[in-house]
Amino acid sequence: MRIILLGPPGSGKGTQGDLLGEHYGFPRISTGDLLRAEVGAGTPVGLEAKKAMDSGGLVDDDVVNEMIRRRIGRNDCGKGYILDGFPRTIPQAEQLNAINSKREEVVADIRVADERLVERLSARRVCSCGAVFHAINRRPQIEDVCDACGGRLIRRGDDSPEVIRERLRVYHELTEPLIVFYRQKGNYFSVNGEADVQTVFAAIRSKLKDWILEN
Ligand code: AMP
Repeated sequence: MRIILLGPPGSGKGTQGDLLGEHYGFPRISTGDLLRAEVGAGTPVGLEAKKAMDSGGLVDDDVVNEMIRRRIGRNDCGKGYILDGFPRTIPQAEQLNAINSKREEVVADIRVADERLVERLSARRVCSCGAVFHAINRRPQIEDVCDACGGRLIRRGDDSPEVIRERLRVYHELTEPLIVFYRQKGNYFSVNGEADVQTVFAAIRSKLKDWILEN
């Protein structure tokens, strides 16, 4: 089983992906996290990707496709996996099919209006351990300190207002067409991502029950 989380930046794909991963015992694979790790390690892929990431654009399909091909070939993906932030273009979706077309696949689209996304992303604070907070809705106990590991919280470089606007523009132009792509495939559903985290999680699980047998 492969669960694809579709939805604009800031819609909650990471949060929902973690909850779903825990629930079903699947790893959450985020191409954004994989790319940030490459940037952090200063690899050639990271150096190349950084330019696109900093400006709110997309990294080359070939680079991301190869990264995903390697990642989903690993043992922990045997039972299933959750994709967060991939595919983001039609060629990526086609490549995913080419890599593994036999895997049962379902697409959960988390929908949130642009105005809400700008608010959410501007107030997002992240820790290097992967924890995510929100300066208004999900404040850490101590300001700018991670509840999970005590690390210092920062705003992601691409969560600045002008880069957020570009990311949303790119989402509408290149990623949104995937809605029609997967609707035609017949494995697509959407949920209202503006509700609170647990309500969105319950909505996704309830729709997923048609595909995955719950214990
Ligand atoms: P995210 O953490 O998912 O918001 O991704 C951060 C940035 O990484 C994006 O704004 C893109 O620049 C890049 N990125 C992540 N996933 C992809 C992808 N599937 N295709 C191209 N670029 C990506």
